[in-house]
Amino acid sequence: EAVADLLLAVDGVTVDYSGFKALDGFSLTLNRGDRRVVIGPNGAGKSTLCDTIIGRVRPSEGRVIFRGEEIQALPEQAIVARGICRKFQAPGVLPTLSVRDNLALAARRDRRWWKALGTGIPPAERAAVDEALETVGLTARADVPAGTLAHGEKQWLEIAMVLATRAELILLDEPTAGMGPAETSRTADLIHSLGPHRTVLVIDHDMSFVEQLGAPVTVMHQGRFLKQGSIAEVRADAQVAAVYLGH
Ligand code: ADP
Ligand code: MG
Repeated sequence: EAVADLLLAVDGVTVDYSGFKALDGFSLTLNRGDRRVVIGPNGAGKSTLCDTIIGRVRPSEGRVIFRGEEIQALPEQAIVARGICRKFQAPGVLPTLSVRDNLALAARRDRRWWKALGTGIPPAERAAVDEALETVGLTARADVPAGTLAHGEKQWLEIAMVLATRAELILLDEPTAGMGPAETSRTADLIHSLGPHRTVLVIDHDMSFVEQLGAPVTVMHQGRFLKQGSIAEVRADAQVAAVYLGH
């Protein structure tokens, strides 16, 4: 594969919590436009992987390379400004602000968040907000307080917040948490609708969702790489089955 297509390389990363290795020499690469699903039993290190890519956790060994540059020592804010954004496992919208204002804050991408409210939102940010609303189907709900959204809608708002940052690399940590089957399918459709200018890493343990995504799967276990392949290949793998049965 051409090096020019390489967007992200997690290269031999170890994250050490006082002797416990949440990541243990873990590596993964993503090319531009890729969709990738990361699965693994509870405690496998999936969220720590996201934390490390986004700069919330510092690896003791290894590198994270984004667009050819090492980012593992940068502050989170600088990483977001470079084009990576992460949706957390638990929804965290600002409940009293409108849906649109939550998105305007996200589009701002920096600490001067108050400038994003009211008038004076730059056109590029306004366009990103409108596009994100459209993508997740919340345009009609733009002016309601985010706190009044249903749980699924809050999750979509959070995905929209990630999109509004104009991130090229999007990390979604359990985007379907708490969703029923219909909402889960809609979330898969939403991810499918994202263009090739987005590269998406999804963590989830809902296998029907993973199947709907139809993307290559990376399996983690105890902070290490275990297996990569199609969903069918991963499902048929004895080692993968053993890891899941063991928990
Ligand atoms: P996953 O998202 O795959 O369920 P995590 O990345 O959240 O797993 O956690 C991996 C392991 O690291 C777990 O055993 C967890 O208890 C541990 N861990 C995560 N964060 C910390 C922390 N801040 N301090 C100590 N241990 C942690
Ligand atoms: Mg997790």
